[in-house]
Amino acid sequence: MQLEHSYAQLPDRFHAVAPPQAARAPKLLAWNAVLASELGLEWLGPQQAETAQIFSGGPLPEEFAPIALAYAGHQFGHFVPQLGDGRAVLIGEVTSSSGQRFDIQLKGSGRTPFSRGGDGRSWLGPVIREYLLSEAMHRLGVPTTRALAAVATGEEVYRDEPLPGGVFTRVASSHLRIGTFQFFAARKDTEALQTLTDYAIDRHYPEARDAPIPAAAFLTAVVARQARLVAHWMSIGFIHGVMNTDNTSIAGETLDYGPCAFMDEFHFDKVFSSIDQHGRYAYGNQPGIAQWNLARLAECLLMICDDQPAFEAALAEFPDRFQAHWLKLMGKKLGIADAASEDIALIHGWLEHLQNNHLDFTLSFRELADQLSTDGEARFGEFESVWRQRVLGQGVEPEVIAGAMNRVNPLYIPRNHRVEQAIASAVEGDFSMFEEMHAVLESPYVEQREFAHYAKAPQPSERVMQTFCGT
Ligand code: AMP
Ligand code: MG
Repeated sequence: MQLEHSYAQLPDRFHAVAPPQAARAPKLLAWNAVLASELGLEWLGPQQAETAQIFSGGPLPEEFAPIALAYAGHQFGHFVPQLGDGRAVLIGEVTSSSGQRFDIQLKGSGRTPFSRGGDGRSWLGPVIREYLLSEAMHRLGVPTTRALAAVATGEEVYRDEPLPGGVFTRVASSHLRIGTFQFFAARKDTEALQTLTDYAIDRHYPEARDAPIPAAAFLTAVVARQARLVAHWMSIGFIHGVMNTDNTSIAGETLDYGPCAFMDEFHFDKVFSSIDQHGRYAYGNQPGIAQWNLARLAECLLMICDDQPAFEAALAEFPDRFQAHWLKLMGKKLGIADAASEDIALIHGWLEHLQNNHLDFTLSFRELADQLSTDGEARFGEFESVWRQRVLGQGVEPEVIAGAMNRVNPLYIPRNHRVEQAIASAVEGDFSMFEEMHAVLESPYVEQREFAHYAKAPQPSERVMQTFCGT
């Protein structure tokens, strides 16, 4: 295997050696053959036993160099100077066919020097959740870490009860987080901060290297990626749930699928996470929180470059960048090819209509598109006539507009109640729903009649009110 270890080669205080623990009876549950082939790992696919062994903790062949990464983070606004990979190990890096470097990380393969009181393990629930959610996000065009493999360990993990254990293999552009910078800033280790910044620039934003103030150009680039990311989340009704700085990727990918969820009924204040008691990470707060997190990154960078106005200027770009992405995405969802600031009121009018009428976020966009092919009654109140005038004013056939809407508005999302059902059956040893759901979500925009139930909103009795963190 052609593995690289660029992060392991950084100074010792960046990481800790963390050999994963071999599972007793590993069984491969899922293998992402397409991703594997992009990463040059396709030859592993047919060798199921060996693949299950490697991606559940080994014993690992010699070319692997497993490490747990050091990081800190603001958790729900409170700073924790040391977190680190407590149940994850980076086993190596690979370069994809497109020339990009990716981390390969096992999640749930046992304790590391950063585990504190935890067992470093994962039960099957979080494994299945992250596999389904991250791959669905990818299919929806949202920047995200990916799923390479899911393995059942054949061992029990104790939560409130014994549960079957699993290991998830995550592929990420990197695992650099805002919290990684905070780890060194908290220790006033400016030498490490400089090394980390140089590494991050080389790996993700090489164009910043030659800018007049590289650290400020780097921050500007991270701001741009976060703005794009959160605009995507907002456009699909996704709530991350734990937007702590340790879960905020420098590369701008969705990172850590813990108590996250796609909304059914739309509400700006919607919160699912059982640990988010004050709604800090509610749907409507996400852009503001991203900007708050980026300010924490700016504070770290100020320790190696004291050009405060340059950092302030970089941070100040967030709202406009977010709005530009949001407007474009939301405009397309509503059938407006080139939405401009005059359309903001219309988009807000739509969201208010959804909220006031307790409508399903995802399905309402499809139903709105259907309205273009009927001369029947308006279904979406006063909004609908204003909207109709706007979209038909583009001078394009209604069917063409409806077609364009249906190409960006998914019919299938990983709905919470279905994810929970897939997890419950997996715990009983039945993985058919997990596999079926994964297959359906590979084509989120195309109607698959035999799988209509995956498109449906939950019945009141099926509704999931809370989601729990990934442990
Ligand atoms: P997360 O909820 O994934 O963002 O994790 C927050 C912190 O808790 C990270 O430092 C994790 O490594 C750590 N952590 C979560 N679950 C476990 C576990 N089962 N064992 C050890 N550490 C854990
Ligand atoms: Mg995390």
